[in-house]
Amino acid sequence: MILLFIFTFNIVGSFNGSLDGIPVAYKDLFCTSSLSTTCGSFMLKNFKSPFNATVINFLEEAGAIMIGKTNMDEFGMGAANVYSVHGPVYNPQSILFDENHFEKNDGDQRVAGGSSGGSAAAVASGMCFAALGSDTGGSVRLPASYCGIVGFKPSYGQCSRWGLIAYANSLDTVGILTRTVSDAQMIYDVISKFDMNDSTSITPDVRSINSSIPSFFKLNSNTDDLRGLRVGVPKEYFVSELGESIVNLWKKGISYLKSHGATIVSVSCPSTRYALSAYYILALSEASSNLARFDGVRYGHRSEESNKNDGMLYANTRGGFGKEVKKRIILGTYALTAGSYGNYFLQAQKIRRMVKSDFDRVFKRPNPLRFTKKDSGCNENKVDVLITPVTISTAPKIEDCLTTNVNNFINTYVNDVFVVPASLAGIPAISIPFGISSIDGFPIGLQLIAQYGDDDTLLGVAKVLE
Ligand code: GLN
Repeated sequence: MILLFIFTFNIVGSFNGSLDGIPVAYKDLFCTSSLSTTCGSFMLKNFKSPFNATVINFLEEAGAIMIGKTNMDEFGMGAANVYSVHGPVYNPQSILFDENHFEKNDGDQRVAGGSSGGSAAAVASGMCFAALGSDTGGSVRLPASYCGIVGFKPSYGQCSRWGLIAYANSLDTVGILTRTVSDAQMIYDVISKFDMNDSTSITPDVRSINSSIPSFFKLNSNTDDLRGLRVGVPKEYFVSELGESIVNLWKKGISYLKSHGATIVSVSCPSTRYALSAYYILALSEASSNLARFDGVRYGHRSEESNKNDGMLYANTRGGFGKEVKKRIILGTYALTAGSYGNYFLQAQKIRRMVKSDFDRVFKRPNPLRFTKKDSGCNENKVDVLITPVTISTAPKIEDCLTTNVNNFINTYVNDVFVVPASLAGIPAISIPFGISSIDGFPIGLQLIAQYGDDDTLLGVAKVLE
């Protein structure tokens, strides 16, 4: 199944918002009161929420129309969107049509990327203007790069997570998928608001401190003059696994920004190499705790078969999770056990702190969360944004992802290597389509990363780069 897509025709009411009549789709982990919310899981196949996620309410108030919910990796766990009870998502860029407009398969079907693969495919194939996804560790940026569209992960806390079914609360971010950066900005302007239902929503006080700190671009800037902008190229992102055509496009992106007046600086983020392992310990630990609520009593499918042996009360019911989710719950539970907590969870937390400090060290702008009155403002020798690749390769073949075995299973996690550092630090990052691979012709995205709260500069530079 390409997409879990349920059309609704309840276009009612008179609109006068900034998104009047604009069709949008939502990843199937945003609660909607009019359609079911399955999280791509058998566990929630019959779940209907009594309320809408806050971001959906904001979009509806602005006039947007929900055209459906989109497929995803089960509970957001995956990078290829092949772990869904609804089946995998095919990358629209790899679907060919014969002269009668019927789909034909030339054996090179690619994944759309995950976990927001359905949202990316819906936007890339023109089914909607924009789609919401969630980005815990790259799930919006990675599919955007594979499908040749824009994927924006705002700073953690900018957009409310109320009604977004959690994978790993401290990392989960609402993400926006569109064809252009200006379209992403339109959606962002509507959903980036304080929400008292989300205890991690950035408060009005912090929002006003943030806007008092100088930044290169202010809201909705539309200039391509980048004189004075300093762009960092983190040397740790030059890894040996990086495909040649990706390196070439990365260099092209750097030259392009330079040709618009930006100054290019080499920077170092030494903790990057530990970020991927730390991410998988922290995300899985939080997931193992979050997913405890799907026990057939509070939420989720309940098995008819009863097994009342000691400790086995929930075994049949919990068997409703897919294989990847079960694996992650076990690994996360292990990392939190008394014997391994110190060696895994605490170490991963320390690495997370180091990754954050690396970013704070390279950016010009102080972090508004650690901003004090004696901060003298910006350090002009530092940088405004970083430019990096999004992935080490173009979209993998679908059959390679479906046939994961002991020899290739690590590959399915490695493609997250460039996207998880920004997630650990909670800072804004965006994937922008920047050309196609000279080897296989599939899209390649470049990633821009900015200081926490400097989403405006990120979007401003992204508009120049796209
Ligand atoms: N690929 C990552 C994971 O599987 C990211 C998922 C996400 O951002 N939801 O955890």
